[in-house]
Amino acid sequence: MAEQNYRVATQLVHQRQDRDPHTGASTVPIYQASTYHHPAGQPGEYDYARSGNPSREQVEQAVALLEGAQFGFACASGMAAIGTALSLLKSGDHLVAPEDLYGGSYRYLTQLLPDLGIEVSYVDFTDLEQIEAAINPRTRGIFVETPSNPSFLISDLRGIVALAKQHDLLTFLDNTFMTPLLQRTIELGIDVVIHSATKFLGGHGDLLAGVVVTDDKVLAKRLRRFLNGFGAVLGPFDCFLLSRGLKTLKLRLDAAQQSAQLLAERLSAHPKVARVAYPGLDDFPQKQLHFSQATGAGAVLSFELQDVSLVAPLLQRVKLPIIAPSLGGVETILTHCWSMSHAAMPIEVKQRLGISDGLLRISVGIEDVEDLWEDLVTALG
Ligand SMILES: *Cc1c(COP(=O)(O)O)cnc(C)c1O
Repeated sequence: MAEQNYRVATQLVHQRQDRDPHTGASTVPIYQASTYHHPAGQPGEYDYARSGNPSREQVEQAVALLEGAQFGFACASGMAAIGTALSLLKSGDHLVAPEDLYGGSYRYLTQLLPDLGIEVSYVDFTDLEQIEAAINPRTRGIFVETPSNPSFLISDLRGIVALAKQHDLLTFLDNTFMTPLLQRTIELGIDVVIHSATKFLGGHGDLLAGVVVTDDKVLAKRLRRFLNGFGAVLGPFDCFLLSRGLKTLKLRLDAAQQSAQLLAERLSAHPKVARVAYPGLDDFPQKQLHFSQATGAGAVLSFELQDVSLVAPLLQRVKLPIIAPSLGGVETILTHCWSMSHAAMPIEVKQRLGISDGLLRISVGIEDVEDLWEDLVTALG
């Protein structure tokens, strides 16, 4: 049976290459080598580790398989993956992006891309008309993140792909939040999918990594050329960690998602909580759109406290979650978006997007949900 016909749990364990071809070892070895012998002066399959090495290729193929694509590129971080993907644009080009981007992407798009001569327009991505209105003759791409974070705004991926095709634009999707298990977007027509593999794909809080995936041969060639020239590749040991983390992705995500649903429901009913944003809740405003393009609600939710003065005591009392700006690990992570993940965003923009200082985000881990709930309730006082 071809790998692409296996069900996802099987793909995750066996990936595209599940043993060392030379020895039969049950994992592909960490090829911790910077260079490769050229027999009689002739390069072999590998010549220098930046250009390619077996550990990296193994994990690149594994993530591409999950996305239903042919080509994957493992980068040194999620941001390196975003920079690599956006290298498909050049000076003079214009990009349309949502205003409520991941904080690091917001920093890259607002502070670094303009220095490269690439202009970005930020619009409300829940409104296709606004996206279309932002397209000008120099526009080359649309950058999407859905659900957005921590506002949980949903962008209509089919609508955006249709717009892009009509105007001959590239589509870039940051799929970190959903993973290919919950949101398969190459088949919806997205050109370039990006992951911060630091989050769910790696999943253990021990790795910084990113992956770019495409099914387009021409784009893949350009991405490979950029990454080889720029050099922000993932090292062999980190490739091994990522490959190992992937094996349990379905088990981790299923468990965390189930707990997230329960916590979202219970927090919604808590008197000190003003509102909860989670696509799995019945009152989630864009529930239908989300589930028309994704198969699950994910493992991250955000909630706003009735009163900002409750934030500091909560952060002081809570014991189980790591208080940090990250998500997608086996451990539950609590983020104060205002001061952590979205620190790079100007206050006016945060306010406009509803990222108040009373807002908290929980990336639910795989601890026992009753322990998490008791801890939260006690900390809420
Ligand atoms: C964390 C994150 C990134 C950046 O990834 P790093 O691995 O931290 O560089 C990009 N996009 C989203 C949605 C993220 O959560």
